[in-house]
Amino acid sequence: MVAWSRDGKETPAQKRYNPSFSKAELFRLGYIAERSGHSTGAALDLTLVNLKADNSATFDSTKEYGDCTANVDLRAPEGSVDMGTGYDCADAKSHTTAKSITAAQRRWREKLVQVMARRGFVNYSKEWWHFSLPGAGGQAYDFPITPRK
Ligand SMILES: [Zn+2]
Repeated sequence: MVAWSRDGKETPAQKRYNPSFSKAELFRLGYIAERSGHSTGAALDLTLVNLKADNSATFDSTKEYGDCTANVDLRAPEGSVDMGTGYDCADAKSHTTAKSITAAQRRWREKLVQVMARRGFVNYSKEWWHFSLPGAGGQAYDFPITPRK
């Protein structure tokens, strides 16, 4: 991730996930950690899904979507409740208590935080979808992943 962030290559499609700054800023601004809790099993990312909603829209790599801060109708489909930004959106609008979201989006975020807190998970204030479990996790899994053939 560190090497990727510094490679100087950023396509418009990649820029969808950090529309307000370059990916080289993701670490400095706190959206990606050099030592991620995900690698230790102590952190997870999740959202809410309305099982009664039509979640059939799928990602189309040939389509141009709005960035992750755009209205839900313009963003890449994620099959989840509208939380105000797309998932993995590095932007101030993704801060859990961002003022720039609607009341309904705020209620969904609060619901997710409350449900996770009941089981001891703590939300990361810059990412409404990121939670960690204090005391959990172990040694980081840090190795190259090779593609299947
Ligand atoms: Zn995360």
